[in-house]
Amino acid sequence: MNNNHLLPTSASLDQEFQRLQFAISSSEDGIWEYDLVKNTTYVSKRWLEIIGYDENEYHSSVDAWKKLLHPDDREQAFNVLYSSIANKVDHAQTVYRVRHKNGDWLWIKDRAKILFDASGEPLRIAGFRTDITKQMQLESQNRELATIVQNATIEVYIVDVENLNYLYANDGALKALNYTLQELQTLSITDINPELAPEQINLLQQYLNTISPVVTNISRHQRKDGSLYPVQASVHKLSYQGRPAYVIFATDITQLSLVQEQLRHLATHDSLTELPNRILFNDRLEMAIKKNSRESKKVAVLFIDLDHFKQINDSFGHPTGDKLLVLVALKLKSLLRECDTIARMGGDEFNILIDGISDVQVLVDISEKLLNAFKDPFSINGHLLYTTLSIGISLSPDDGTSAEVLIKNADTAMYRAKNEGRNAYRFYATEMGNKAYERVVMENALRLALKENQFCVYYQPQVDMHLNTWVGMEALVRWVHPTLGVISPASFIPLCEEMGLIQEIDFFVLENVIKQHILWKENGLTAPKTAVNFSAKTLNNHLVAREVEAIMRFYQCHSECIAIEVTESQIMKNPKEAIEILSEFKKLGLEISVDDFGTGYSSLSYLKRLPIDKLKIDQSFIRDIPLDEDDMTITKTIIGLAHNLKLNVIAEGVENREQQTFLIENGCSLGQGYYFDQPLDVDSVTQKLQLMKSYVI
Ligand code: C2E
Ligand code: CA
Ligand code: CA
Repeated sequence: MNNNHLLPTSASLDQEFQRLQFAISSSEDGIWEYDLVKNTTYVSKRWLEIIGYDENEYHSSVDAWKKLLHPDDREQAFNVLYSSIANKVDHAQTVYRVRHKNGDWLWIKDRAKILFDASGEPLRIAGFRTDITKQMQLESQNRELATIVQNATIEVYIVDVENLNYLYANDGALKALNYTLQELQTLSITDINPELAPEQINLLQQYLNTISPVVTNISRHQRKDGSLYPVQASVHKLSYQGRPAYVIFATDITQLSLVQEQLRHLATHDSLTELPNRILFNDRLEMAIKKNSRESKKVAVLFIDLDHFKQINDSFGHPTGDKLLVLVALKLKSLLRECDTIARMGGDEFNILIDGISDVQVLVDISEKLLNAFKDPFSINGHLLYTTLSIGISLSPDDGTSAEVLIKNADTAMYRAKNEGRNAYRFYATEMGNKAYERVVMENALRLALKENQFCVYYQPQVDMHLNTWVGMEALVRWVHPTLGVISPASFIPLCEEMGLIQEIDFFVLENVIKQHILWKENGLTAPKTAVNFSAKTLNNHLVAREVEAIMRFYQCHSECIAIEVTESQIMKNPKEAIEILSEFKKLGLEISVDDFGTGYSSLSYLKRLPIDKLKIDQSFIRDIPLDEDDMTITKTIIGLAHNLKLNVIAEGVENREQQTFLIENGCSLGQGYYFDQPLDVDSVTQKLQLMKSYVI
């Protein structure tokens, strides 16, 4: 520093200046001084460094400084200084540009101190000049960036990390959501992302706090009008106004999603029918297999092939064939639930995926429904085209646990349906499937049997073993199937009960027995009292007795002709109701027997109150007499019980002399069983009656 330039006006000033000198020697600022009294100037070395000059190149005069000033700033820089002097203010501050030796413009902040004498005349001005070029550039850059962000079409949000409220949103965001900034600032992230669950938000925050400062996420934003649109967002943890904040850059991906969706649709759907194709079907099937195995449910594949499609194609042409396929697809869709996947696997093959199955019966029902629906023809271009279906069914896990195997096995089953005459469905192999199938075949056959009168009644004699006389009969229904022959009731009665057909059958037997008694009577034969089996399902209301009464009155049937058998277990299911209903029958004068006695855990107290006449010892206790001691004890007990309750007792299933002897010896003289007679058809009974005309009721 050149001390010769510093000419103190007084000792105190000199001292002050020295201190100042010391203070600024280490400063980054350049200093200058103008002594108005002496008209001398000074600039520090640092100032020269700032503007890029050597000491000998630069004159410290006011003029030299003035020359460096940017023309636009010159006036303003002087004005500030002059107005401070004029106003007797002891300081002034201004910002202006000066030219560096290399031609660049530098931004300078100049702070001056003005010393006045007692009369207010300026004596001296000294100041600091700071190069603020970098700062100015930064500020300008910041302003530019802020404008860029504000105007960007991408959505930019700044969110408070604490309460997730919006602090800032750019024009792109406000326009996309249709909110004003003020409105948005009253909302939080959850208002705009209604589909983001609190757990998801937590997870995102944890991720941002611990793993990565940036997270990308796809979600849907909700506009002010409530509509949603998909966005891809990246969330950054940055600082905003000195505090940590989440900065979110979001892009509306509606268009992208649409294109992706279209591409996905094209890749996974059949272009003709718009149904899912093989790829999507396999995918959904694999998923369903996994999901259902967790829930212990079954998944089924119905492999459908149109019967004679090739002929239709050949005779009417491919466009007609295509139309038919479209109509078939629509029909299948209309017959199934929204959640069932129907796919076109190619050609005239369709696959259906049904999951969540706990009873395979539903598959039988669905298959029947499909077959039925295809009985009607399709009308295309004035032609009525008939096409039936062949359906093969496989089930997971029974027939396979992969999509590939299930489809293959359903295909195999479909071929079986085709080979066995088409317009049919077949299960691949499962026991269960076959049972369900058999059941429905049986159900259909039973309905037909009722319609076509395929039932008839057999009669099994009941005898007094002691007196060797014929005392009664039991009417047992038979199903005379046109091709299978006589079918035992044991195999169809339970199904009839489930199907709600049993009442019809029981009444058929009752009426048949009454009519037969009339016929026998007309032929001069007197048949013994005949017991008719009534299922509990038949006896389920009070009107039954009224109906029986009406039939008896219609045929003028005497109550001595018929009796009723109800099983012990059925009575004991609801003994109170049984007492009431059986009492109605009792009022009609009908004898009531408790069938299969010993198997139904009778309560003695109810037994006493039941309006019954006879216990029928179940054949299972008679079967092993005289070998099984327990059975003999039980039989004796039942006989004793009947005697105590003053009831008649009859043993069923008597097959040999030993059983007969044991029963007679123990006080049971009535018996029914193969030892005496099998159940007989009407002709056999008629012959027997003719032979034994002497047997009276
Ligand atoms: P149930 O009422 O216990 O009928 C007796 C069954 O035992 C009859 O079988 C009869 O043929 C058979 N049986 C008779 N004697 C002997 C014998 O010595 N040894 C053996 N092992 N069996 C003998 P079925 O005719 O096959 O009838 C089976 C069941 O079907 C009947 O058992 C009854 O519960 C039911 N049922 C038959 N007809 C009707 C009906 O019209 N209505 C209702 N609801 N059920 C009926
Ligand atoms: Ca019976
Ligand atoms: Ca029985």
